[in-house]
Amino acid sequence: MAAVIRLLRLSSSSSLSLARRSLSTAVVTEAVKSQTYTQNPAPTAVDPKGRNVQWVFLGCPGVGKGTYASRLSTLLSVPHIATGDLVREELNSGSNLGKQLEDIVNQGKLVSDDIIISLLSKRLEAGEGKGESGFILDGFPRTVRQAEILDEVTHIDLVVNLKLPESVLIEKCLGRRICSQCRENFNVASINVKGENGRPGISMAPLLPPPQCVSKLITRADDTEDVVKERLRVYNEKSQPVEDFYRGQGKLLEFDLPGGIQETWPKLLEVLNLDEQDEKQSVAA
Ligand code: ADP
Repeated sequence: MAAVIRLLRLSSSSSLSLARRSLSTAVVTEAVKSQTYTQNPAPTAVDPKGRNVQWVFLGCPGVGKGTYASRLSTLLSVPHIATGDLVREELNSGSNLGKQLEDIVNQGKLVSDDIIISLLSKRLEAGEGKGESGFILDGFPRTVRQAEILDEVTHIDLVVNLKLPESVLIEKCLGRRICSQCRENFNVASINVKGENGRPGISMAPLLPPPQCVSKLITRADDTEDVVKERLRVYNEKSQPVEDFYRGQGKLLEFDLPGGIQETWPKLLEVLNLDEQDEKQSVAA
């Protein structure tokens, strides 16, 4: 399988730097071993800043993987690599491959493991050429086979599993908007779910665009109600086993979102043992 061989070649050509990266993040790996958290602080010994983390973000469509993975990538100075973005770039490029993928994506199905690994391996090779090290993967792995391949070629330190109730996920996907010019993501949904059966309520304010983006907002073709429901079904069938895969390795950090960005971001920093000081330094850098 050529795509996998390319990824394997990538890993073997940089095995020394990968080994160094693995060593530098060993503290994080040890700290998460055999533990899961639901909004509880991670052990205080964990300090991943500047360690070229190799993290994975899991979670259903609409949970906010992109938002939090992107913020953390800025904070930790590692690339945020979202396979959904790689797929959309291919669709927008007008290539033959992009045309083949369009129907699959717009029906809410998964692209084949071979194709997604080929796209990812190209992205990693390009990043390596620019001297990138470490990563936060978002939307990969999405099948157990992808997780096994990733395990064969590199070391994953931590897997963050973001969670929200399904009714909220659907509302959030339907409220998603992108500025066609600056490519920023916004959300016009105003979420207000009452707490019941011991579960706390969830409120999320909309994330509204600035005036200059309002007339340029577009919606993803796969963010219609039917397709979102199909993506959730596919997630439960194909991607939930990936959670079990990493749970078995003791790498899974479960994180129930307490609300919108204002409430969630500080709590996420807390469980990852990152603080505002890290954020200020990163922003100032
Ligand atoms: P979501 O909002 O559902 O998390 P993404 O932006 O991550 O969406 O992905 C969009 C689409 O790209 C998916 O529905 C799927 O068709 C394809 N895709 C992205 N990542 C993968 C992957 N790892 N394996 C297979 N298909 C993928």
